[in-house]
This record gives sequence, structure tokens and C-alpha cells, in this order.
Amino acid sequence: MITRKKLPLQCRLALFLAATIASIGHAASGSSTRSLDLGLATQKDSQAYALLNELTSRIGPRMSATEKGAEAESFVYEKLRQFGFRNVRYEPFQMASWKRGSIDVTVEGRSIPAAAMVYTPAHADLSAEIVEVGNGTAADYAQDYDKVRDRIALVYMGTLPESPSATPYLPRWEKLALAIGHGARGVIFINPVAGNRLVTGNAGGSANVVAVPVAVIGHDDGLRLREELQGKGALHATMRLDNTVGVGTARNVIATLPGTRKPGQIIVLGAHLDSLDLATGAVDNGSGAMWVLDVARAFAVHRVHPERTIQFVFFMGEEEGLLGSYTHVRRAMRANTMGQVWYMINTDMSVNPKGLKLWGGAPDLALPGSK
Ligand SMILES: [Zn+2]
Repeated sequence: MITRKKLPLQCRLALFLAATIASIGHAASGSSTRSLDLGLATQKDSQAYALLNELTSRIGPRMSATEKGAEAESFVYEKLRQFGFRNVRYEPFQMASWKRGSIDVTVEGRSIPAAAMVYTPAHADLSAEIVEVGNGTAADYAQDYDKVRDRIALVYMGTLPESPSATPYLPRWEKLALAIGHGARGVIFINPVAGNRLVTGNAGGSANVVAVPVAVIGHDDGLRLREELQGKGALHATMRLDNTVGVGTARNVIATLPGTRKPGQIIVLGAHLDSLDLATGAVDNGSGAMWVLDVARAFAVHRVHPERTIQFVFFMGEEEGLLGSYTHVRRAMRANTMGQVWYMINTDMSVNPKGLKLWGGAPDLALPGSK
């Protein structure tokens, strides 16, 4: 449920930047008022939160190369057409698709709520001892190299509070690779966030099915199990999973607003539209994608005709490893059009920004106030 009515400061700033960058040519020729009007007008009639509400309540989770992912792509495509864009297109690409099925994790016959991680294998029916390996870093295998061999490894996904200060932070796919390297037949991660929430994520860090079943259990359940294992050494566990894996198609959505004077110079506003599947992805990255959609809407409804071309790009396949953006860049490189892109503004989780970055290679296209 979206309740905030006003765009966050960062969104408004970025919107202003987008409007300003697109019309720097106007500013240089002495007609800068149009860009300022757009920035102010959009703050008043923003539909970003309404669009986000519609996306997250009507479609919800939208994993790439699934039916919901395709619905989200169509949603954005249709909106852009409704806003008046004539040049809207899909940019399809193939990727490994993964769809959640059933999961059952037990320890000594007790069922523990669990979620499969994305790209865990299609089927698993594993019965083995479970052992705990702390944070699952290399140091946790130093005492007993074969501790998890032919077993299920219980690994804390973050860094346990009692860990030595020099403990390295490893992403979960590195912990998974270590466990597999030490012979684990399955891995169960403990969610480091207090409570018993389940999370999801890409198990192996790339768009490939990993070698062993990988699941996440809640923090509180996980710490209880860890204590039990520390007392007993090993317990009997099972992991039964059924998921759907295969090859699917996802589609970036691209709307182009042609420049009036310098159509060969392109400003790209982009955001990934896809999410994973256990939540609606309102923040990551419904917020960024609907911001881009609202900026596009503002340009269309206020009939702003920038001197440079603006491309609004909604990427898919980001959560699986930036697949949509790689596709987009690869195609531009093959077509020898990368040199036309003067700036790209990417927004991811724009309601919780860590900063603003601009990329570009155009020395005479400076932001207002910059040298
Ligand atoms: Zn994101």
C-alpha cells in the first residue's frame, strides 16, 4: 500500500536534472524557461506513486521471463503509449528462467519454514546430516576441511555478531561456492535479519542454475538450529524442492523522444523494472522504474520537445545479473551507436538513494552550475 503523496526530494531533484539535461540546448540559446516549467509542473501533478501503487497491487512481484514479468513489461509499454509516445518498442532477450515451486525442509523430522533461492535446481530430494559452519568463510573450514562433505551446510548469511573483527564479509554466492567446494550437497542459509522472515535472492550470483539445493530459513529458527547443532554436532535433515527452470524471454521496454536539433545525441533515463518473487518490489525497483515512467509521462503530457533525444529504458533481468542492460549495451556496441549516448541516469531504489551518479563523455554538456 502506497500512502506517500509527495515525491521524495531525491526524485524531484533527479526529475529536475533530467528535464534540465534534456533541454540544455534550449538554455544555451536563451529559452530555459521550458525546462524549469517542466520540473515545477511535475512536482504538482506527479503520478509516480499512483503508478507504483498500480504496478505493485495489480501485478506485484515481476520476475523476468515469467508471466508476471511479461505483464509488467506490457504495463509499462501500454502506459507509454497512453501518454502519447509513438516510438515505444520491446527489446527481447533470452535468459535462464526460474520459477518457484514447492519446498520442504526438515530437521529430525521437524518442518522448518524455508524459501528456495533463485536458480536452485529444479528438483532435489536430499536426505543428509546437517552441520553448522558459522559465517561460512574460509576460516570456518580451517579446523575441519571436510566438515560439510556429503552433508548439508548451515551458513549464516551475514556476519555473526560474535565474529572476530577481522572476519571478511563475503556475499552469499561466495559462501555457497566455498560450501560446494568443500563437498556440501545442500546449503541452508540463515537470514541475518531478526525475526523469522524469509528472503530470496540469486543463489549463485549469475544467471545459472547452481549445483546443489539452496534454501533460506528465518533468523530465529536458524539461530535455534545452530545452537542445537553446536551441542550435538550433526542432525538428520531433508531438503525437498520442486522448481521450474528453463529458457525464457524477457523484454526491456524503450521509449524514444526524438531530439529536435541534435537527435543523434542521446540522454538515457533508465531503471530496472523486474523484481524477485517474494515481495512486490515496491522499493527495488518499482520506485525507480515508476519514477522514469513518470518523467516520461511529464515530457509527453507537457509536450516538451528536447533538443537532444531522450530514451526512457526499463530494463529486465537485473536481479539475475544485469542481463537486460548487458543486452542493451551489447546491441548498441554492435550497431556502433554507443557513441551517441551522452549521459545515462540510472535509478535503483530512488526512495532510498545512496547517491546520484552521472556517466557521460560529452565535455561541453556540463550540468548547470558545474565547470
Ligand atoms: Zn535494484
